[in-house]
Amino acid sequence: SIPVQSPAASAGATKKKMNGYVGFSNYPNQEHRRSVKRGFNFTLMVVGESGLGKSTLVNTLFESKVYPTKDSDDGAAGHTGTSSGEAGSRAVEITSVSADILENGVKLRLSVVDTPGFGDSINNEDSWRPVLENIESRFDAYLAQENRVNRSKIVDNRVNALLYFIKPTGHALRAIDIEFMKHLHTRVNLIPVIAKADTLTPREVELFKARILADINYHGIHTFKPVSDQYDDPETVADNKTIAAKIPFAVIGSEKLVRRADGQMVRGRQYPWGVIEVENEAHNDFVSLRQMLLRTHMEELRDETDVSLYESYRTQKLLALGHVQDNSVFREFNPRMQQEEEERLHAAKMSKLEAEMSAVFRQKVQEKEGKLKQSEEELYSRHQQMKSVLEKQRRDLDEKRTRLAQPDVVHTHSSAHPEHAQRMPSKDKKKR
Ligand code: GDP
Repeated sequence: SIPVQSPAASAGATKKKMNGYVGFSNYPNQEHRRSVKRGFNFTLMVVGESGLGKSTLVNTLFESKVYPTKDSDDGAAGHTGTSSGEAGSRAVEITSVSADILENGVKLRLSVVDTPGFGDSINNEDSWRPVLENIESRFDAYLAQENRVNRSKIVDNRVNALLYFIKPTGHALRAIDIEFMKHLHTRVNLIPVIAKADTLTPREVELFKARILADINYHGIHTFKPVSDQYDDPETVADNKTIAAKIPFAVIGSEKLVRRADGQMVRGRQYPWGVIEVENEAHNDFVSLRQMLLRTHMEELRDETDVSLYESYRTQKLLALGHVQDNSVFREFNPRMQQEEEERLHAAKMSKLEAEMSAVFRQKVQEKEGKLKQSEEELYSRHQQMKSVLEKQRRDLDEKRTRLAQPDVVHTHSSAHPEHAQRMPSKDKKKR
């Protein structure tokens, strides 16, 4: 089995203070003020065979001697990457170098994780495994801290981006490249780069890129790309498109300044026929890579790591542990979330109850009002009925009294008007 040096145990981690403009101080515009004050972490992993220019590129990116290059005089100290042993049986090691870089008052804690020995064995079938294990162990370390009740001092060593160095063969991806990317693309923001692009002609670079992209698509490999959303301004959208079109970035690195034809000193590589400039977009894609990695998409890389890659790892991990993926899992793992969730549920329950109660109250009042109104109407009509009956009775009585008081007249009257006399009883009958 291949020994893996854990990130925490990497005794080779060195701390350096550096200055110089790189571009990440633009980051506060993307990040919250809080993390600006505290500084922020960014962990970059570089993977590729020895000699592909990984250390050189890292130093070129940060314009600092973050990483000691193998052939430089002052760089060897602190570098634990070169493992002992013959090339044929070399193990993949994981080493880490940290550097605090200060720029415009913004502190960046940069960690560069190297994987010396990757692809250097005779049998490279499982070269990807120690790298994947290292990335996952960093997720595990984060998960363990997240589950603690006191979460104020979480150390985030998760890998935010992985630069995968492709050998400039000019042909196609090799089996080792495909295997690596297939196993890693769901765990890390994969950024493929064509190493030492100055060893290929521009035409070769163009064809090589097309072949690489075809292979990546064919194998369903997901690589990190700047994407724009509807809120981005047209300029940003255009910039993102330009950068995305350059993936895989064909890069060159150099720690040396060389003299250009016009006499100016530039970072680049000297050839008998001229100078290849690192920071010339016509010569290679270094500028676009730096732009994406450090100036425009650092926050997105960190977000993607946290929200998407880590979240899916955690979910799978919990499922593997036999937990069911639902809210209770998260509550169980997170006391603060549990409490918030309970408070939220309680508040929702109370307001629902209140709404129900007032609805019931309104309904009852309405019913009562309706009933009162109805009985009032009933009473009134009964009253009216009574009144008319009584009036009628009074009229009848009055009539009777008048009749009795004057019997003769009534009699005569009644015989004189037989019609009238007959009508009275008939009316009475009707009433009865
Ligand atoms: P690492 O083993 O991948 O870290 O490679 P290094 O950064 O130590 O570089 C190995 C050798 O390649 C050194 O001699 C560098 O000067 C050289 N080198 C680095 N980058 C480039 C590049 O972009 N183009 C060319 N032609 N050589 C490079």
